[in-house]
Amino acid sequence: MNKTVSLDYPNLVLKQFPTSSKNLFAIETCKVAVNYWVYDKRKRIVVHCGSSRACGCNHHKTSIHAEQRAFEYLIKHKKNRNLQIYIWKWGKCGDLKPAYCCISCKQLLMKYNYQDKIFTFMNGGIVSAILENPNLSLGYMIKYGLSY
Ligand SMILES: [Zn+2]
Repeated sequence: MNKTVSLDYPNLVLKQFPTSSKNLFAIETCKVAVNYWVYDKRKRIVVHCGSSRACGCNHHKTSIHAEQRAFEYLIKHKKNRNLQIYIWKWGKCGDLKPAYCCISCKQLLMKYNYQDKIFTFMNGGIVSAILENPNLSLGYMIKYGLSY
């Protein structure tokens, strides 16, 4: 493990820091891993966190995306209307980089009307993780034989 990297963390008001978040960072996977927090904006705590990476090693299986996992948590707890999803990537130096929803996750979120509950970080600010024209995910492109 790399202990010399000091990580930037999402700039949210937190009552307590989710300690398990430290384990999300791995220098080998940071370029492809998308990290997520499910944040309760009323209680000001992170209720769920994790990470996922684009399928680099196993091309036969479509990877589950971070935003998809976070979305499943929101659906399971849909009575709590204060939950928000934050997704990001870490650069090699622990710097925060924005992560955006791919087209299939965007469609999923919009179908359930959750498109205004997902955010990412850009230049220290919070922006929507939904892009007008999101990139197709790697898994999606493999599945349908598309290429860049
Ligand atoms: Zn996705």
